[in-house]
Amino acid sequence: MPTHADCLFCKIVRGEVPADIVRQGERTVAFRDINPQAPTHVLVIPREHHPDAGAAAEADTGLLDALVRDARAVAEAEGIAGTGYRLVFNTGSGAGQTVFHLHAHLLGGRGLEWPPG
Ligand code: C5P
Repeated sequence: MPTHADCLFCKIVRGEVPADIVRQGERTVAFRDINPQAPTHVLVIPREHHPDAGAAAEADTGLLDALVRDARAVAEAEGIAGTGYRLVFNTGSGAGQTVFHLHAHLLGGRGLEWPPG
């Protein structure tokens, strides 16, 4: 699937918008969130454009596997895999999604409460 010309995260994938990239995977790119909500707050995104996790699962069996696997690799590199971390897919504007290119928020490095706000 091609990237989208006007999508912010597609532009990060193409290197047109700067980002603090921590990992370049075969199918994913991971970069630090510009507004971090935890000591580790990394966004893991597919190189291909999909608007959300459900759409990606419909279109490409295996892509979410790669996303979760690569998120775990980032968690290990950040030293939070052992203590625990959270992966969040905000899906839809009512749930707080503001960028409609699939991204997993990888959060950790502090205690995380449940339920989330
Ligand atoms: O789940 P949601 O769509 O709200 O998440 C988008 C995230 O992208 C936000 O946490 C925001 O801080 C982040 N962002 C970023 N770099 C940008 C624009 C947005 O890290 N250039």
